[in-house]
Amino acid sequence: MTKKPTYKIGTLGSHSALQILKGAQDEGFQSVAICEEGRVKPYESFRVADQIITVKDFSEIVDLDNQLAAENVIMIPHGSILNALELEKIGELKAPYFGNKNILAWEVDRTKQREWLANAGLTLPRIYETPESIDGPVIIKFFGAGGGKGYFLAHTPAEFERKIKAHPKKKYIIQEYIVGAPIYIHYFYSPLTNELEVMGFDKRYESNVDSIGRIAAKDQMDLGIETSYNITGNMPLVVRESLLPCIFEMGEDVIKASKAVDGRGLFGPFCLETVITPDLEFFAFEISARIVAGTNPFINGSPYTDLRYSEPMSTGRRIAREVKLAMESDQMDKVLG
Ligand code: ATP
Repeated sequence: MTKKPTYKIGTLGSHSALQILKGAQDEGFQSVAICEEGRVKPYESFRVADQIITVKDFSEIVDLDNQLAAENVIMIPHGSILNALELEKIGELKAPYFGNKNILAWEVDRTKQREWLANAGLTLPRIYETPESIDGPVIIKFFGAGGGKGYFLAHTPAEFERKIKAHPKKKYIIQEYIVGAPIYIHYFYSPLTNELEVMGFDKRYESNVDSIGRIAAKDQMDLGIETSYNITGNMPLVVRESLLPCIFEMGEDVIKASKAVDGRGLFGPFCLETVITPDLEFFAFEISARIVAGTNPFINGSPYTDLRYSEPMSTGRRIAREVKLAMESDQMDKVLG
């Protein structure tokens, strides 16, 4: 009988690494944190990493790849890996990888992403092809990993032209601004049981938009304050219970549509970024096809995972649990991409 390989679980020391590493330990795996020089402290202090590998820059994981592959370190992707490496490079990594690498192309390309969400039947904010066509409130978003920094609102072509001057040569999209409550929905889809779980919800804490309300409108005008959406943290949320059926349905439709674009489809954690209007209509403006930092408030589990599991179940731990279940049932091919 051939001996089954033993796996470790690793990730880049940033974003949602604390819960991923702790979740790995809780499920009995050795955890490996790859940290940038000068940014090791949290991973030591919180005792979540059994092994720490230090690099100058995350892009050096390409050079660590052989070592990670030899040690059977399953890499868990999060936002920082997408920032550090081109898609092609991620595709070439030999170390085991949790998730479907092919789906990343659909997340990263805004046009493909829109096609995917539209195929799933979700309602999306309108995209304005040209600044001249702006005829209502819009949000201007820049490409790349800016984390919302500098995004601005406009409602006429003239206002757009005035504000875009502060961002010369940046690539952007102009999206209809939906006035409502932003809700980020955290899902987990198991390729082993084909079941979709709702893990929790968050809303974001962004600078400066989340503090502008502390300044009187007149002072905002006098000071010439422009909004920005630079993410600084996440706040836990529970939703009105009657919204849950629709939330499950949207997640299931996204999974179904993902199988149409790539046979294996999306699996593992993902997040639908939505705004819900006063008429309780969901507009989905983005999908993250991997763990999001909005799950970080729930290291000890969310109210929803508490209903389903009799133990604290973060999204990070849920990933490790899926790996463990796949190992036990000889189905590693179903969880590795
Ligand atoms: P991510 O980090 O998930 O890639 P991002 O940093 O690019 O996202 P978004 O989350 O897309 O930024 O948007 C930044 C802020 O703008 C968030 O507060 C979000 O709720 C809000 N927002 C984005 N799109 C819309 C929209 N179409 N209508 C209303 N609010 C929006």
